[in-house]
Amino acid sequence: MINVATRINPASASAVPQLLTRLAGRHLIGDALVRPALDLTLDVLDPATAQVIASAPAGTSEDVALAVDAADKAYPGWAETPARERGRLVAEAARRIAAASEIIANVLALESGKALRTECRGEIATAVDILTLYAGLASELKGETLPFHPSVLSFTTREPLGVVAAILPWNVPLVLMMLKIAPALVAGNTVVVKASEEAPFATIEAARLMADVLPAGVLNVICGTGRDCGMPLVEHPRVAKVTFTGSQAVGEAIYQAAARKIIPVSLELGGKSPMIIYPDAELAQAVAGAVAGMRFTRQGQSCTAASRIYVHARCFDAFVSNLRDAVATLKIGDPLDEATDIGTVVSQRQKAKIEAYIAEGERTPGATVLRAGTLPSAAHLKDGLFLQPTIITGLPDASPLMREEIFGPIVCIQSWEDEDDVMARANDSDFGLAATVWTRDLRTALKATRHLDAGYVQVNQNLTIQPNLSYGGFKKSGLGKEASLEAMLEHFTRKKTVVIDMR
Ligand code: NAD
Repeated sequence: MINVATRINPASASAVPQLLTRLAGRHLIGDALVRPALDLTLDVLDPATAQVIASAPAGTSEDVALAVDAADKAYPGWAETPARERGRLVAEAARRIAAASEIIANVLALESGKALRTECRGEIATAVDILTLYAGLASELKGETLPFHPSVLSFTTREPLGVVAAILPWNVPLVLMMLKIAPALVAGNTVVVKASEEAPFATIEAARLMADVLPAGVLNVICGTGRDCGMPLVEHPRVAKVTFTGSQAVGEAIYQAAARKIIPVSLELGGKSPMIIYPDAELAQAVAGAVAGMRFTRQGQSCTAASRIYVHARCFDAFVSNLRDAVATLKIGDPLDEATDIGTVVSQRQKAKIEAYIAEGERTPGATVLRAGTLPSAAHLKDGLFLQPTIITGLPDASPLMREEIFGPIVCIQSWEDEDDVMARANDSDFGLAATVWTRDLRTALKATRHLDAGYVQVNQNLTIQPNLSYGGFKKSGLGKEASLEAMLEHFTRKKTVVIDMR
């Protein structure tokens, strides 16, 4: 076993263990770090070494009640705070997080297994960017005047909803938290976040820094399992809205529970996003786009991962071989090491699930499974949850590998010749989160963007969620949009119509 502090850059080496000791076993409720009511905890493992890094609170309905009470008590004062003042406080919170970004990035790398250099630092920068975006949109919480009658004044106002529950997954917890809490808070709601029990500490620390700036109870974070903490939060009678990112199965359960209360829900669920490469595409650019789009540096643990690639038959062999060469240059290793490009997957459960899909690929007649890159050999990483990026070709379109979200470093590549046929194959999915098209012809690109049944369609690039670009899936990928002004207005306010007879 190797001491964690020796793996961390000297500038953060003592601060990270100290921070974990401070956060261990505690929720953020009101403006304090508090032990769970039943004093239950869950171990959080470092996926690179399988060692426990600290225990997270295992929240129950008792903690949910305390957190919702704190948020409910803070709500009237926060809702009455002028919108631009709320925005100013959120902007100040963003500055506090930016100032602590290196320590939070190390904590995130340690608990999630994502590489510090290629993933965690960028995630915090994006999280800060999202807070800054919404802080500046505070004055856009506007209503309209309605031309009803010359002697009647008719207008609409935007009001906050009340206490918002935000339930998070582990894969990009800081970005996903900010996509929910920044618009919710700026619009005047108070929030209870349910952090992922698998990677909670970066979330709690970022929220703690924000809570130092915000009035007590405006932002609370609790942690625990979905069953014991997440569902009681959704079902709490004073929760007025639920915003969730996670799996389709849990999204369905939350939607049903919210239906019983008739409250609004936003759902960001899974994906199986197609990438279509036309014969005129710039091949090197498309290969780089596939490396980025598959989020190989995040072990493919991305809802928008370009996990189904359709390459025109004319460039199929060159594309597959160049992609394998490109992925092989990525260094798999200790997430905390500056030289590492790819860290681990998050849990043994995820690793076993991904390996079962690879075995299914190997069993499939006609399929070829190519592994790229070298697994680390350092003794302290021997129990780490590392996987090689894996390319699978020759699968039938009906294969579970082509239809189900794997959430791991597996990309399935198929060849095509007929444009209508490839569009139909790309759209033949329960999901509709994202899609990309690679061509040098603008007419081809525009035609493809019209036909693709996905909420986030890009041409000749494969970016992640970008602040200010409306983001959200079609079909079973979810309900609602995030990352934009529209997301704040449509999903975190309610519209009131006021009509005043002046005759
Ligand atoms: P998950 O659905 O298992 O868990 C997500 C969160 O929900 C966790 O906090 C969990 O504790 C909680 N939860 C679980 N059961 C619950 C219940 N019955 N009631 C209330 N809360 C419950 O997902 P995960 O494994 O943490 O994350 C991976 C999934 O997230 C993938 O399917 C991925 O596609 C999805 N995801 C989607 C997006 C997007 O923007 N569309 C982004 C990231 C991840």
